[in-house]
Amino acid sequence: MAWSKIILTILCSGLTLPVFSWGFYVHRLINRYAVFLLPPEMLVLYKPHIDFLSEHAVDPDKRRYILPLEGARHYIDIDRYGAAPYPLLPRDWKEAVARYSEDTLQAYGIVPWWIEIMVRRLTAAFKERNQARILKLSAEIGHYISDAHVPLHASSNHNGQLTNQQGIHGLWESRGPELLAEKEWDFLVGKADYIKNTSQYAWSRVLESATAADSVLTLERKLTDRFPADQKYAFENRNGMIIKQYSSRYAIMYDQALNNMAERRFRQSVYATASYWYTAWVNAGQPDLSTLSLAGFSDAETKEFEELNTLWSQERIKGRSCD
Ligand SMILES: [Zn+2]
Repeated sequence: MAWSKIILTILCSGLTLPVFSWGFYVHRLINRYAVFLLPPEMLVLYKPHIDFLSEHAVDPDKRRYILPLEGARHYIDIDRYGAAPYPLLPRDWKEAVARYSEDTLQAYGIVPWWIEIMVRRLTAAFKERNQARILKLSAEIGHYISDAHVPLHASSNHNGQLTNQQGIHGLWESRGPELLAEKEWDFLVGKADYIKNTSQYAWSRVLESATAADSVLTLERKLTDRFPADQKYAFENRNGMIIKQYSSRYAIMYDQALNNMAERRFRQSVYATASYWYTAWVNAGQPDLSTLSLAGFSDAETKEFEELNTLWSQERIKGRSCD
């Protein structure tokens, strides 16, 4: 194998690549399983479009390579604002801008505020009875809500780069789940609930994530200390390419050390996604979803989906994305 190929494959292992969110695989699962938590009045629309909702769960990550502003919507380095529960950081956007400036907020990530913008847009789409927009925004809000549940999305040490633990981001959110989800995880989550205060709810999830980030980092360091160094990584075949990644045994032991945290956050993400969809629908006056207008996507929207895929594929070829 040429060295260039080896280097590319090592990059694609997520060990050194900047990583952004639950892996594509988990994002798709979250949106898919969230559909089953909805009441019959919503299932009439969401169930026939479950493949769309699942597939487009990853659009916001694809867009990161194209739109510079997109990145900040997926995380918040909340530890930049002091110590938990971060009393100095206003939860209200305008107050936060007044205190820290918009540039600072954008630099440290805006996920809880962005979820609120998406809630307003989705509620408006329900009021307009615009099917195409409801589906697009539902798929995307599921992404941001799920990212808010990832502990390292609420930490400035998002890939262990400050503590010599590079690659931990992908270990927690992709490698472990890909090994365990279908074999071990419980996908029965219950039913969607109405969220009285969507902003407060998002902030609560972010604060949980920030608290959990400490265990995510500390327990990985402890496991590395007691795990045979020559068995921590393995070369495995992935889609016909040999890649270096955390060994299965290491990833599974890490999950056990965290007491199945990834599964718990996954289940909470499914529940929250369905509950946000449900809440936006209720707040829009529970429109009848069996008789919506604008059922198909416009030519412009279809073109936008195609362009997003084309540009993202080009980045993939360049080795900047490996999903
Ligand atoms: Zn993301």
